[in-house]
Amino acid sequence: MNIPLLDLKIQYQSIKSEIKQALDKVLESQHFILNGHVETLEKKIAHYCGCDYAIGVSSGSDALLVSLMAIDIQPGDEVITVPYTFFATVGSIVRLGAKPVFVDIELDTFNIDVNQIEEKITPRTKAVIPVHLFGQCCEMQAIIDIARKYNLKIIEDAAQAIGAEYKQKKTGSLGDIGCFSFFPSKNLGGYGDGGMVVTKVKPIYEKIKMLRVHGASSKYYHKLIGGNFRLDELQAAILLVKFKYLDAWNKKRAECAQRYYQLFSETGLLDFIIPPKIKQSNHVFHQYVVRVQKRDQLLKYLKTQGIGCAIYYPLPLHLQESLSSLGYKRGDFPQTERASKETLALPMYPELTIKQQEYIVKKIRDFYNQV
Ligand SMILES: *Cc1c(COP(=O)(O)O)cnc(C)c1O
Repeated sequence: MNIPLLDLKIQYQSIKSEIKQALDKVLESQHFILNGHVETLEKKIAHYCGCDYAIGVSSGSDALLVSLMAIDIQPGDEVITVPYTFFATVGSIVRLGAKPVFVDIELDTFNIDVNQIEEKITPRTKAVIPVHLFGQCCEMQAIIDIARKYNLKIIEDAAQAIGAEYKQKKTGSLGDIGCFSFFPSKNLGGYGDGGMVVTKVKPIYEKIKMLRVHGASSKYYHKLIGGNFRLDELQAAILLVKFKYLDAWNKKRAECAQRYYQLFSETGLLDFIIPPKIKQSNHVFHQYVVRVQKRDQLLKYLKTQGIGCAIYYPLPLHLQESLSSLGYKRGDFPQTERASKETLALPMYPELTIKQQEYIVKKIRDFYNQV
């Protein structure tokens, strides 16, 4: 049996005619830049997240960059985040000349260890970027309390967690600014790059709207230095179709996760496999990530059995060559380093079937029976 880590083709088949219609409408109009679809999508996502404002942007990476620009992050400023995330979280900080200050993760949730944040705060700390990794929200109340105490801004990296909730509030609405990615593999994926910023703060909204179009307050009058951070009309049209199904798809992901848990419990494999712990937040399972022994051997074996898996992330950010000037070394973030050696992402997408999951769990059991 061949089971990919992610299968986008099945999903496309189910919405193909709607997508083609939506694309055709944009093509017939021949208006590709900020011509209505983006604004409609912004209104829907803002409302969905319980935010007043949303700004469609060119990618999740640019959502982060433009958010940091909007809160006026300057060279020398410090921004607290984790070394266990996709590179963009940290790259956006460094691109502005600011300094990422890392805090280790908790091993059970793979999210920031809120008990270690306060000791990293200095007079130069301006913001914190909690990353809701794999679709699970961080322990936001603690982060909000710390941010209030030290007057820090919170930018949520919710690229992997659209639709996830914390105490009945959607990710993106919990801090000052929320960032989403529409990279094709994300829970709400476009057919190319795209992203969205959400906020409840009007001046931040107004500033990001300007930054998105080279800082122009009106056409050809440039109040700020921004960039071309626009979301395409074609992507917005696709995303408007897919957005209707987001909650149903997220629900199916959670059902798949529950099924994995059940199957692993039945095989007694919980001794080997520690499934993600679900806290008082719901989890939208962008990835289903387990921690296992003999990870690299298991990965190799599963590949020979036709099962797609991946490692998120094999090299923590504090050990990346491009960030060596930060001066971190191996051993600085033990939980992150351990996660990078033990985590394995198993196939996860809404259309994953029981049969496929049974096959995956059976093969994992076979592997541990033979080693
Ligand atoms: C995908 C992702 C991003 C970047 O999004 P792009 O749209 O690919 O630029 C940022 N942070 C995290 C945690 C991500 O998973």
